[in-house]
Amino acid sequence: MNAPRSAPTLPDQPDDWTAPGAYPVAAAVWRIPLPLPSTGLRAVNVYAAEGPDGIVLVDAGWSDPVGLAALRHGLGEIGRALDDVARVVVTHAHHDHYTQAVDLRARCGATIALGRGERHTVEAFARTPGDPPQPGMLRRAGAPRLADEMARVAEQSLALDTAPWGAPDRWLDHREEVAVGPRAVEVLATPGHTRGHVALRDPGAGALFAGDHVLPHITPSIGYERAPEPAPLRSFLDSLRLVGDLPETLLLPAHGPVTVGVRTRVDELLAHHEQRLAEAAGHVRDGASTGYGVAARMRWTRREKRLDELETEHAALAVLEIVAHLDLLVEREVLAAAEEDGVVRYAARR
Ligand SMILES: [Zn+2]
Repeated sequence: MNAPRSAPTLPDQPDDWTAPGAYPVAAAVWRIPLPLPSTGLRAVNVYAAEGPDGIVLVDAGWSDPVGLAALRHGLGEIGRALDDVARVVVTHAHHDHYTQAVDLRARCGATIALGRGERHTVEAFARTPGDPPQPGMLRRAGAPRLADEMARVAEQSLALDTAPWGAPDRWLDHREEVAVGPRAVEVLATPGHTRGHVALRDPGAGALFAGDHVLPHITPSIGYERAPEPAPLRSFLDSLRLVGDLPETLLLPAHGPVTVGVRTRVDELLAHHEQRLAEAAGHVRDGASTGYGVAARMRWTRREKRLDELETEHAALAVLEIVAHLDLLVEREVLAAAEEDGVVRYAARR
């Protein structure tokens, strides 16, 4: 018989998860929320763990003076300084998690570990920062105007991007153990949000450092990165099942409050995507034939907005997410796909 699973207990947290400070979430682990310069997400949680070799951070935030000041302040609350950061384990190479790790390496010699699957994106961004793949992907999805707008937005954000970039000191592999604070945690490759995303399972603390793989309040974007993989949604659903099969743990997300119940949230996310898959297939049966055409018939965000009400980057994300759904439906043999004049068209098979 299986041992009974006792639910992990929720540590005390402030009402507003973005409130600055350092909040204990497990023995020798603190959550330090850092404000973000972008408008969409309000903050990113950095987790600081105290171990024999110094402070280990899980994620490091976006490299900017405000985020760095918040990290310094949070570490100060636990009697530590930036110089005490020995290592940073980063869940994925998005700017709001990775770039401040690159900055800390230059500042205090911290080493960086990142999931091996992120090497495609890390190298592509270093090689051709001005050449994101999303405009081309949007053209193939039948959205040429959005593709042009997205190219302009990408150019503007690159012009404003002062964050440092570089390869990590080491790559992490699935199921390897790394020391985070006083305990060994298990690296779980959880591709989907990005190709090389990793979550860290801390069985000793009954916790999962989830990065952006499982978030308590929002649905993570899928495959929005420099070098996306061909089937990001399939990977994401597989990665959800991987963490959903673990004994119930504390969810330590990169955005949002700490909650109990990775499994419950995984079930919700799986159900959400199955419902979106069914809706997308229905729109193809009703005559929509491109990623753009299907996305335009769907509603977006919790406010049920239309695609043309979304800001450019969110609209682009929406269309590309639908492409990921349609491609999975092709894999499941619900739809067929064929490329005509550089645009992928879908048709119902059953
Ligand atoms: Zn993030």
